[in-house]
Amino acid sequence: MTTFADLGLSEDILRAIQDVGYTTPTPVQEQAIPIVLMMRDLLAVAQTGTGKTAGFVLPMLEILGAGRARARMPRSLILEPTRELAAQVAENFEIYGKYHKLSMARLTGGEMMDEQIRLLDRGVDVLIATPGRMLDLFERGKILLSDIKIFVIDEADRMLDMGFIPDIERIAKALPPMKQTLFFSATMPPEIRKLADKFLSNPKTVTVSPPSSTNVNVIQKFIEVPQNNDWLKRETLRHLLKSDAVKNAFIFCNRKRDVADLHKSLVKHGFNAGALHGDMEQSERTATLDKFRKGEISLLVCSDVAARGLDIDAVSHVFNFDVPFNAEDYVHRIGRTGRAGLSGTAYTLTTPDDAKQISAIEHLIKKTIDREKVEGLGEPMPDQGRRKPDHRDRRPNSDKRGGDKRGRDRNRDSNRQPRHQEPRQEAPRSETPLPETAQALRPVAAQPQNEKQAAAFDDDLPAFLRRPPASIK
Ligand code: AMP
Repeated sequence: MTTFADLGLSEDILRAIQDVGYTTPTPVQEQAIPIVLMMRDLLAVAQTGTGKTAGFVLPMLEILGAGRARARMPRSLILEPTRELAAQVAENFEIYGKYHKLSMARLTGGEMMDEQIRLLDRGVDVLIATPGRMLDLFERGKILLSDIKIFVIDEADRMLDMGFIPDIERIAKALPPMKQTLFFSATMPPEIRKLADKFLSNPKTVTVSPPSSTNVNVIQKFIEVPQNNDWLKRETLRHLLKSDAVKNAFIFCNRKRDVADLHKSLVKHGFNAGALHGDMEQSERTATLDKFRKGEISLLVCSDVAARGLDIDAVSHVFNFDVPFNAEDYVHRIGRTGRAGLSGTAYTLTTPDDAKQISAIEHLIKKTIDREKVEGLGEPMPDQGRRKPDHRDRRPNSDKRGGDKRGRDRNRDSNRQPRHQEPRQEAPRSETPLPETAQALRPVAAQPQNEKQAAAFDDDLPAFLRRPPASIK
């Protein structure tokens, strides 16, 4: 079996990989890493979930480790279609590059430009950007692209869908001719193939199959919440936590702010919960994970980014408090349970607003998931807990840009319309009731430590407004 050491990575990187807990390279890593280290152009047909990010981040660290950055002249450029993906790649650099002294900047919409410019001025080795913000700063003369040695285009087919290709072409024109280009796409339709031919020079090709199947050991259910209402969702979650045999669980939110809010609410209700989000110090993160591993914390509220790379066996449940934006993330999330031959349960809270994402999930996993409802939960007051549309309510294809007043630019990363929609299937409904046992079972570790305290601290509604015990139908 191939090991990371066999791929030609140096000691510092191997140590960081070991710290994360990976034992063997994934197929895309096994094939791509040696090609990148040979400084060849790469065309990789691989999507999220295959380990492709480490497939380019690890060898990039190796190559860039040798040089030094100069002010305003980044040495590598990675283009991502969304802020979320840019954040994930940045986190990968932090995790695997912890024994390196490489500097990094992220240029994405919706963030203060001044801070981004300050970082660039100091000189960065790795620049991770969405195309619109990148081009904007380049055209303002804040950045010089003539020292780019490695150019990565990630998720090319999504870039095409989001209308970013003309921006990418303009950026590519500003890059030096002598560079290494790595091109990743989940699919390879003719338009992408043409684009790859244009950008790549004598590339090596790697193709790996997507992780589109879910583990048969995992029972999956969609729990329908009648409104997109935070209070109702939290109440539903609490009900599930109490009524199913939850030994321990990952609870996923789409946004890191929601991770913090939900964590606070669960603790207030007496649940033994911790949180993992992108803004935490590494030491805090490690301590929380240790507690979860040892069973001192039974519920871990987290974002996709924060939960990356976590390899923890014997997790009884996964709860998707939010339906993930990307169907592939659903497969990753629920893959955190039912590991090592054990069985697991994955509940996803769905609201009428999630119809598109739900059918994308079912389309990807080629399976219809049972729907259930929790009946009899207290009705929230009008507008109680109703999620207000705000800056956090962005979808991956609406990479809005903050601090940017120029009309021309406002249209760039923001409000992109997909060029074509993915085929959507209307999923047939099934109202299978939850087995009796699930209703009867009481949680083991996840049960509120003090139910009285939980009632007293109900964060959203006075007790008299709440209805008698709920049941799952
Ligand atoms: P990606 O396809 O890059 O989005 O990665 C998908 C997931 O696989 C992430 O959670 C990674 O942390 C994880 N991962 C990447 N490489 C490995 C590996 N060699 N072994 C186990 N998990 C990995």
